[in-house]
Amino acid sequence: MSTGGRHPTRRDMIRVSVAAGAALITPHLAGAAAQPREVLIRGGRIVNAEGAVVSDVRIVGERIAEVGRNLRPTAGAQVIEAAGKLVLPGGIDPHTHLHPAFADDLTSGSQAALAGGITTVGTFATPARGESPLDALSRVEATIAREAIADVILHASVWPPTPELIAVLPQLVERGQPSIKFYMVRTDWGSHLEMVIKTLEAAREAGVVTMIHCEDGALLAAAVRRLTAAGKTSLEHYPESRPVVAEVTATAQAAALCEDTRAAMHIVHMSSARALDACRAARAAGAPLTIETRPLFIHLDEAKLRGPDHRLFVGQPPLRPRADVDAMMQGLIDGRIDILATDHAPWTREQKMDPQLNIARVRPGASDLQFMLPMFFSEGVGKRRCSLERFVAATATNAAKIFGLYPQKGIIRAGADADIAVWDPRLTRPVRAEDDHGKSDYSPYEGWSVTGWPVTVLRRGEIVLADGQLRGSAGTGRLARRTPAPRP
Ligand SMILES: [Zn+2]
Repeated sequence: MSTGGRHPTRRDMIRVSVAAGAALITPHLAGAAAQPREVLIRGGRIVNAEGAVVSDVRIVGERIAEVGRNLRPTAGAQVIEAAGKLVLPGGIDPHTHLHPAFADDLTSGSQAALAGGITTVGTFATPARGESPLDALSRVEATIAREAIADVILHASVWPPTPELIAVLPQLVERGQPSIKFYMVRTDWGSHLEMVIKTLEAAREAGVVTMIHCEDGALLAAAVRRLTAAGKTSLEHYPESRPVVAEVTATAQAAALCEDTRAAMHIVHMSSARALDACRAARAAGAPLTIETRPLFIHLDEAKLRGPDHRLFVGQPPLRPRADVDAMMQGLIDGRIDILATDHAPWTREQKMDPQLNIARVRPGASDLQFMLPMFFSEGVGKRRCSLERFVAATATNAAKIFGLYPQKGIIRAGADADIAVWDPRLTRPVRAEDDHGKSDYSPYEGWSVTGWPVTVLRRGEIVLADGQLRGSAGTGRLARRTPAPRP
C-alpha cells in the first residue's frame, strides 16, 4: 500500500487501549482509502475449531490474506498488537429476532452483537399476510441495507406448508438464503403433517435446512386449559403451562422426521436433558440433525421463574431445573449440542412486567446478544473446562457449516472473510444492562462477574469495535450469501 508521500497526521492516529495491555493501531492513512486497507493482527493466539496457534493475521480489504508467523506490515497498514490475546473467528448467532415486534432493530441489534464479538446474525423474513416468502426476503434485505452493521442471514419463517412453499424452496437457494423455520407449537401442526413431510423431502432436494421449534402445541394448549380451569392463569404458573413432555415429544417427532426424510434439520433452543436424549438415536443413525441451545438454558434455572422478577425470565421453552441446565452446558461442551444461539428477543422491563400478561398471553424471550459469548467464555471455558476450540466450534464454526457460510465465515484462514474478534481472556467486568447497546433495559445476568471479553472486533476487515467503542455505521452490514445444505 503506497503512502503517496503523505505523512500521517495526529488525527490519523487511532489508539486502542484495553485493560490488560494496550494494543496500538499504527497510522491509518485516509488518503489510501482507494486501495484495499491492510490490517495486521500480530502475535495473538489464533483459535479455530481444529486447533490453536500463535501467529499473525494479515487482512487486505474484506478478506484474510494470510496467516503466518513474523508477517511484516506493508506501509500504511494498521497493526493490532495481540500478544496475550485470543484471536477468534467472529461469532455467528443464527437465531435472533431483530424485527419490529421487538425492541431492537438491525442497527441496535448489530451494535449489541459486535460489542459482544458476534459479527453475523441470523434473523427472520416472515411474510406478512398475502406476501410471498421471496417478497418478504426482499423487504428485509432492504432493511439490512439501511440498518445493519453486522452481516446478516435470513430464514423464511413460513406456515402452513403448501405446494406454493415447496415451489419457492429452490428460489430461496438461488437467493442464497436456504433456510426455513417451522414452529411445532402451532395447534394445527398435526393436521399438516403430511405436507410437512413433503416439504422436508423438497427441502432435502433443494438443499434447504429447516429450523424447528420443538414444543407440542396440543400439549401446551391442554396444560393452559387445565390451569385456566383451576384459576391458575398468572405467570407464577408459567413453568406448569409448558411442561417438559411437550418439548420431549415434539423433539422426538422432529428427530424422526429428520431421520426418515434425511432433510437437514436444526432444532432451535433445546432446554432439557430428555429432549437431548430424544435425539440420540437419530443422530447415531446419521440423520442430518443439528441442535442448538440458548444462553438462558446453560446459565439460569427455573428458580428464576419463582422469584419476584419471574416475569422477566419468561421464555419458550421455560427455564428448567438445575439438572437440565447442567445437561445443556455439558452437551455444548462435549458436542452433543452443536451450537449456542441467543434467540435474542429483546423487550423492556416495563413490557415484561406488564400485569396484563398471563400463561396464555406472554412476551417470551430476553436480550442476550451482547453478553452471550462473554458469559459462555467465562462460565464454559473459565469454569467448566470447555476447550477454546470447542468454544469456537459452538459459537462460530458449526453455525457457519449448518447454515452454508463455511468456509467463507467461521474460520480464520486465507481467503475467508475477515470477521475476527480479539479477546482479552483475563479482562474481568460485570454484566450491566446499562452497557448493553441493545434497547432492552435489563439483563437476565445483571451483576454477573465475567472474565473474558472481546476488545477489538473486525467485520469483513473493518474495525467495528475498538477500546470498547463501536465504530461501524448503519448500512455497512450485508446479507451474506450462503451455499445450500449438502444432499445426503
Ligand atoms: Zn426464536
